[in-house]
Amino acid sequence: MKQYDIVIVGAGPVGCVMAERCASQLGWKVLLIDKRDHIAGNCYDCLHQSGVLIHQYGPHYFRTNNQSLVDYLSAFTEWIPGNYYVTSFAKNQYFPFPINLLTLAQFFEKEKLSPDEAKRLLEEVREKIDQPANSEEFVLSRVGRAMYETFYLGYTLKQWDMHPRDLSPSVCGRIPVRFNEDCRYVDHTHQLTPKHGFTELFRQMIKHELIDLHLGTPYNKELHKASTTVYTGPIDEYFDYCYGNLPWRSLAFDFKEYPQEFVQKNVQINYPNDYDYTRSVEIKHVTKQAHPHTVVSYEYPRAEGDPYYPIPTADNHNLYEKYRLLAEEETSKNNVYFCGRLAEYKYFNTDEVIENALRTFDLIKQKNDHQ
Ligand code: FAD
Ligand code: UDP
Repeated sequence: MKQYDIVIVGAGPVGCVMAERCASQLGWKVLLIDKRDHIAGNCYDCLHQSGVLIHQYGPHYFRTNNQSLVDYLSAFTEWIPGNYYVTSFAKNQYFPFPINLLTLAQFFEKEKLSPDEAKRLLEEVREKIDQPANSEEFVLSRVGRAMYETFYLGYTLKQWDMHPRDLSPSVCGRIPVRFNEDCRYVDHTHQLTPKHGFTELFRQMIKHELIDLHLGTPYNKELHKASTTVYTGPIDEYFDYCYGNLPWRSLAFDFKEYPQEFVQKNVQINYPNDYDYTRSVEIKHVTKQAHPHTVVSYEYPRAEGDPYYPIPTADNHNLYEKYRLLAEEETSKNNVYFCGRLAEYKYFNTDEVIENALRTFDLIKQKNDHQ
């Protein structure tokens, strides 16, 4: 193998950011590898055979509260506004989701609700649980049993094949409850989509003469060696599953083309109580591509397949902690840094992993400065 200053395993968001920083800031020769035949990790988007731009691994709604992160990424892309609107199909109706004043009025069959009226109403129906210990208690303490059973219970059972009472409060806690009529899916200050897609953003990011990209290349510890390594794959795999397998949740995606401009009113419909799939996604609402056809993807949760979601339970957290200690040792002894959703076994969004990648780069730089 050619001599490199750093080997980066995984050309997802973390790998690409790390490669860009090491090449542009340290002048390092970078080997960036991925076992898949494309960059951008799970943010990968591409043209479907119909020519419609799709998100291959589920809808990616970029959002962040961090202006400096937007500034950094803006060197590699222009943006369009992120129109992330979701409805939940339940009781034969489409409800705006997350729950907000419009959802509450529709659910409780009121003409209109003021924020105060909605707060009083929820105060009556919510269960008084001060410190929710799991996702079921979290939702019950916010919106009460009827809405929990309508919007959350069935979806969560399908998505995780686990009861919400066995999942950390942070899982259902990802979804806000609002006392206004804001129907956007997330709360963040910046909700933006890369104008030409995520793959193009990351392609621009790693366009540097010091970066060699090898796709279709699984990591081989004996072969891919350098004085520094960044590993973004599953942490249990790195350590040959020595403490056992960390459980992951996967998805199967069924993409269907339709000979019309749009099928759905908005990008995502959640189906808590109907069908085997959890949601249908028509990403064209977000990409704003002009095309006479459209593609909708249907997501079927699975135990087997690519690792997409760490499963946030106490047991899994404890198992991860054992691997994390090994990782700490590996970092200090062998300069192998573990970063990203798979390597840290955390339910991170893209902005969060990029922030972590930038922090990890700072550690590597500091260490290098002192040598
Ligand atoms: P990944 O994107 O997983 O990339 C890791 C790469 O490493 C992969 O390409 C993999 O092939 C490669 N790799 C792994 N092991 C090896 C190996 N041994 N050898 C070589 N290569 C290897 N985030 C948002 O901000 N908004 C969203 O709306 C959103 N929606 C999501 C929906 C779904 C269904 C999923 C699964 C994730 C979603 N995310 C979303 C999260 C986002 O995808 C991740 O936060 C982000 O992709 C993590 O980046 P990463 O670089 O850590 O890992
Ligand atoms: N959730 C739910 N009903 C919904 C949407 C989400 O119960 O209509 C719960 C479910 O447990 C899900 C979690 O909230 O896994 C987080 O949802 P999100 O949409 O953020 O999941 P992701 O986009 O990461 O798959």
